[in-house]
Amino acid sequence: MKEKKTIALVAHDNRKKDIIEWVDFNHKTLIKHNLVCTGTTGRLIEECLQKRLSADEFNNIEMLKLKSGPLGGDQQLGSLIVEGKIDVLIFLWDPMQPQPHDVDVKALLRISSLYNIPTACNRSTADFIISSPIMEHSYKPVIRDYADYINRNV
Ligand code: PGA
Repeated sequence: MKEKKTIALVAHDNRKKDIIEWVDFNHKTLIKHNLVCTGTTGRLIEECLQKRLSADEFNNIEMLKLKSGPLGGDQQLGSLIVEGKIDVLIFLWDPMQPQPHDVDVKALLRISSLYNIPTACNRSTADFIISSPIMEHSYKPVIRDYADYINRNV
């Protein structure tokens, strides 16, 4: 991953207020990177950034909005991680309420772990990641070699 990173931002409905406050606080850092969001989270983040930034700054934001999470957005994001297109995942999932797409949520967390993507599931971890010196440098996550698994005799 390069100095300019691709940061994925996702929040469940009960955590959207949290992610918007966090984006608002960190907007200066975030706009230096590419952003990828699930649909509704992305719309709210855009509204937040539009209030915060000049028209020029706002128009320069690189943001990809995927489908809404329950409509497949989490799966799209997982697929981007597999393709090596996501560097950081900020995923404020709701620990208090089951989701219609719980299986997709689990799949996304599994894939982020498998590909060793820095992943924040709460605001404190998101604060640690965004303020890490590594955010400003290139970084190569170590990914386990699964050759034995791929070549296993079955
Ligand atoms: P949303 O999806 O941003 O479209 O609300 C988030 C999620 O539930 O994964």
